[in-house]
Amino acid sequence: MADVHNSKVRSYNMSRIKNSDTKPEMIIRKYLHAKGFRYKINDKRLPGKPDLVFTAIKTALFVNGCFWHGHSDCRYYVVPKSRTEFWLNKISKNRANDEKVMFLLRELGWNVIVIWECDLKPLKGNLL
Ligand SMILES: [Zn+2]
Repeated sequence: MADVHNSKVRSYNMSRIKNSDTKPEMIIRKYLHAKGFRYKINDKRLPGKPDLVFTAIKTALFVNGCFWHGHSDCRYYVVPKSRTEFWLNKISKNRANDEKVMFLLRELGWNVIVIWECDLKPLKGNLL
């Protein structure tokens, strides 16, 4: 799987790793707020501290970074060539945790929405 990574994608991933500020989440927040939605942010009372919580409609929304959450078949999910095992391990833990969180939320009767970072790329220009 090595040669499919061009340097652009790689430097994109590296910038993600260094900069854990979650810009995609900000895009979603601004967008929904402008549409009149009101929500709680990182509600600690719920499993996985969902990024956005809409209490009235019992819906939890996660904005997942493609790299950190190991978005399969996504061009933004490229495992770094150095410390590969470390990253694979970390990302598979994140994935397992995501699954657990979603299961728990649904058990509690919550709707769960996941928006992937790459889903936002085409929207970016229109939303900001
Ligand atoms: Zn993705």
